[in-house]
Amino acid sequence: MSMWNPWRGCKKCSEGCLHCYIHKGDAKRGVNTEEIVQTKDFDKPVLKLKNGNYKMKTGIVYTCFSTDFLIEEADEWRAQCWNMIRQRQDCTFLFLTKRIDRFAQCIPDDWGDGYENVVVCCTVENQKNADYKLDIFQKLPIKHKCITAQPLLEEIHLEKYLDGIELVVVGGESDYQARPLHYDWVLKIREECIQKNVSFEFRQCGTNFIKDGKQYRLQTKDLCSQAKKAGIDFKRK
Ligand code: SF4
Repeated sequence: MSMWNPWRGCKKCSEGCLHCYIHKGDAKRGVNTEEIVQTKDFDKPVLKLKNGNYKMKTGIVYTCFSTDFLIEEADEWRAQCWNMIRQRQDCTFLFLTKRIDRFAQCIPDDWGDGYENVVVCCTVENQKNADYKLDIFQKLPIKHKCITAQPLLEEIHLEKYLDGIELVVVGGESDYQARPLHYDWVLKIREECIQKNVSFEFRQCGTNFIKDGKQYRLQTKDLCSQAKKAGIDFKRK
């Protein structure tokens, strides 16, 4: 598993961005998140060791986890990224995006029905965004599609968008002012996934977690482990 952030910085673009951890981290360091700049790791996937092997290991590559791969400010750099992705067929590049409506204008000429080694996760947090973004997402030529409902901000229904989806990930918000995540919302999405035979993962509870009418304030370090304890993940058959 590797991380690759060819650029850094991002701009808030949806309700889920309110407590963005990139913005919070940058604010502490006095960095302007809205300035999108290339990082020193831009060429990371194709850098080689003296023996000619790639420095970056074969396997999954979490791409643009401190930005958005489809952000407009990176349009002129993305073609080089596609070249590197094409070159590293031994790696699977996974990115999340809140800008799926830009996808069609961001793909390379030879994209066809998608690159086998690219996984795209479309992020939604409420029904309005689910209806807008997933309607676009389901029509796009992408070989491997996932949905990330995180931070989930209200009860949403995904059923009509689950055809062709490999995995749905659900989670809450991590912040001292976090908006609540109701466990019932999580279970409803899980039920839809099981009905449609789509893998489901409850990734993390969120700081402000509501279960059986009771509010729980969770520490950041416990968000994932508490979700795992629920034991509700589902693997498609
Ligand atoms: S799209 Fe993601 S990285 Fe960008 S501001 Fe929103 S939450 Fe942060």
